[in-house]
Amino acid sequence: MTNPPTPLKIAVIPGDGIGTEVMPHGLHCLRAAASAYNLSLQFTHYAFASCAYYLTHGTMLPADWKALLSTHDAIYFGAVGMPNQVPDHISAWGSLLRFRREYDQYVNLRPCRLMPGVPSPLSGKRAGDIDFVVVRENTEGEYSSIGGRIFAGTERETVVQETVMTRVGVDRILRYALELAKRRPRKHVTSATKSNGISITMPYWDERMDVLRAEPEFEDVRVDKFHIDILTAWMVLRPEQFDVVVGSNLFGDILSDLGPACTGTIGIAPSANINPEGRFPSLFEPVHGSAPDIAGKGIANPVGMIWAGQMLLEHFGFGEAAKGVLTAIENVLGRGEVGVLTPDMKGEGTTDTLGRAIEREIFEVA
Ligand code: ATP
Ligand code: MG
Repeated sequence: MTNPPTPLKIAVIPGDGIGTEVMPHGLHCLRAAASAYNLSLQFTHYAFASCAYYLTHGTMLPADWKALLSTHDAIYFGAVGMPNQVPDHISAWGSLLRFRREYDQYVNLRPCRLMPGVPSPLSGKRAGDIDFVVVRENTEGEYSSIGGRIFAGTERETVVQETVMTRVGVDRILRYALELAKRRPRKHVTSATKSNGISITMPYWDERMDVLRAEPEFEDVRVDKFHIDILTAWMVLRPEQFDVVVGSNLFGDILSDLGPACTGTIGIAPSANINPEGRFPSLFEPVHGSAPDIAGKGIANPVGMIWAGQMLLEHFGFGEAAKGVLTAIENVLGRGEVGVLTPDMKGEGTTDTLGRAIEREIFEVA
């Protein structure tokens, strides 16, 4: 995106549990970036898309939610869920998954970057060794509801579920991955496939990649394919080799959990659901959920929320500010001050000490 909207209109939805605790720090840091880099950001707060709203209104979203949210460029989302009072199928399906579907957020992005001071479960890996992004197809593929069951309850019981790949759906996700790689220093895309076992859809995925990568604009992008089984093994054994990793809905789902798991605590990982054409708002959120077990204690790690804000800046073309926020996060984590870091990072600090330290660092870095 070359010309960021001015002002950039952001719908703020804190949600439930620790979502409401980390959101203020996400906003402090975005405001700090706006002031340090002279950006025009406009925030509007919404209480819906939370279980608290559901418990008083009997619905996760008001009837006019689309009219309200569609006027924004982005949705900055905390976390949703109160598993003891509202079943997950109501809370998640009634909010996030509806946004994803109705706003055609067909790209799910998960950066996987090993930060200084954060131990990786992979031994011997240091900050800088792991720095890739998983691009997941978010709307079709293996997660279709086409299929059924016949001869139910008999010995001949048979169950079928179809994978759906459309040319539009495959091309747009592969193109997004190629364009993203083109903007990154290493310009490398790894495509997840399984064309040696899945004999119709996966060869099609590979075929479309071959067509797109041959376009002149992707001349300088290096592309390789890995079967998903060996790809997961390489992600653990030699994550250094990845830059942009693109996968279908199912493969991308698996990779986008495996990738961040290789880079430490769930408390720091961010995610974005993107409608690249900007016809609808894109959504930026931490990977973690509402974490009822630690909600209300003030110890939730705010980095996932802050980093999601960094992705938002980057997506809308505020590259310098995005770089500043990322450096600020790295600097604070790298200092490893026990009194600042949250308990999930073996610190003795709070959401507030860590969030405020990053906010201050954004001004230092700028
Ligand atoms: P969801 O169902 O919404 O995907 P979940 O219940 O599977 O979420 P989380 O709510 O993310 O998972 O919590 C998983 C574990 O990680 C919990 O023990 C929680 O306390 C911890 N956790 C999650 N987010 C954070 C955070 N920001 N800081 C510290 N610990 C966290
Ligand atoms: Mg949960």
